[in-house]
Amino acid sequence: MAKPKPPVQKNETIKLTFEDLTHEGSGVGKVDGYPLFVPYGLPGETAQVKVVKVKKNFGFGKLLEVDKTSEDRVEPPCDVFYQCGGCQLQHMSYSMQLDMKRNQVKNAMKKIGHLEHVPVHETIGMDDPWRYRNKIQIPVGQKEDGQLMTGFYQKRSHNIIDMDTCVIQDEMNDRMVESVRRIASHLGIDAYDEESHRGVLRHIMVRTGQATKDIMIILVTRTKKLPHKDELIDELRETFPNVKSVVHNVNPNKTNIILGKETTVLWGDEYIYDTIGDVKFMISPKSFYQVNPTQTKKLYDQALQYADLRGGETVIDAYCGIGTISLFLAQKAKKVYGVEIVPEAVTDAKKNARLNKMDNAEFYVGQAEEIMPWWRNQGLLPDVIVVDPPRKGCDEELLKAMLDMEPERIVYVSCNPSTLARDLRVLEDGGYETKVVQPVDMFPQTEHVECVTYLTPKS
Ligand code: SAH
Repeated sequence: MAKPKPPVQKNETIKLTFEDLTHEGSGVGKVDGYPLFVPYGLPGETAQVKVVKVKKNFGFGKLLEVDKTSEDRVEPPCDVFYQCGGCQLQHMSYSMQLDMKRNQVKNAMKKIGHLEHVPVHETIGMDDPWRYRNKIQIPVGQKEDGQLMTGFYQKRSHNIIDMDTCVIQDEMNDRMVESVRRIASHLGIDAYDEESHRGVLRHIMVRTGQATKDIMIILVTRTKKLPHKDELIDELRETFPNVKSVVHNVNPNKTNIILGKETTVLWGDEYIYDTIGDVKFMISPKSFYQVNPTQTKKLYDQALQYADLRGGETVIDAYCGIGTISLFLAQKAKKVYGVEIVPEAVTDAKKNARLNKMDNAEFYVGQAEEIMPWWRNQGLLPDVIVVDPPRKGCDEELLKAMLDMEPERIVYVSCNPSTLARDLRVLEDGGYETKVVQPVDMFPQTEHVECVTYLTPKS
């Protein structure tokens, strides 16, 4: 039977009541059962909406005016919130953000994993959900008057929005970006221009250790030469004694990838340090390190609790990065084996183990889906397996190897509820039972949600 024609037309203005939210935080309202997705609309609100796109089964609208306002609508503190692509949820109360994330996880569990009976706890939020990020990487542009500017890209474009502050960044990162921009402008260093592929300074990147207050500055240039580099370093060091490392990265390519291959330390250390709980970590310019340390502590504590270690266990940490979760686990386990695909991260993981005087953690470079079956064939049978894969989730071979190892517990840390639910279904079909899912808000004001969950064998 042919579907009826959509009940709305492009460019038409309609009155719409929002009933729900998408996982990107758009309002969902229906016209005769036909759903329209409208950025910045909130459930319970009625608004004037311009229809901007009409597809067969759904459409998109633009919020023109809100007639009936939700109590959860708040004034975004950021001046450029509606232009910038970085945050999606600043117009929403924090409690609504946490609910929305929990619902997103519940939906994925139900629709993708067919696991509607598994309890999904309330999202663990932050007391103060602002200024949490320990890493900024911001493009540099040039104004008409020649002064440098920094800002994130406008949504779905490569136009830099000139901005002074980013309200989810650690204050220090903001101040460092501002200083580098000012000093570089003063020294006459040109910004890189994407279109002509000319100019020098592409990105300013700053990493801070929130516990140690250490600062690392990474200057990314198109050219091998960074003009006036000594003056730049001197001025930064004089102004900010916490700067521990100034790094130069060369990226000569026409690409969206921020960092190039060549990295040299211009001044100071190769690493900065940070601590999470009682564990200390070295962070290098390129290594993956969670961006919200306050919430990372909560996430890892929960993972550790779910692992239920008593001291005698052998544990595998697959997708271990620089060994953050592994070393958290090593505090309580007999032995931890970590596997990670990026060789530099494994080098860092080994250094981190030594730094913490932990000799019960070993790290291997490789694809987790290849190393795990190999370990199994070698007779390694862990009591607990922890996985923390990237957004695409676990490889099928890895899930199979996990099941073959028959651990007492599997702890799954995930940054994508959809692939989590998909993988949990495989583990359930293989004889495991998902006990509970705990969402943790690692990225307030944005659409992203992290989860930790654990499984035990079905009895
Ligand atoms: N557990 C760490 C890192 C998690 S991010 C932490 O909390 O900090 C996911 C990690 O998986 C990244 O370090 C990435 O390099 C790694 N990775 C991606 N694909 C992989 C694969 N096939 N095998 C092993 N590691 C992989």
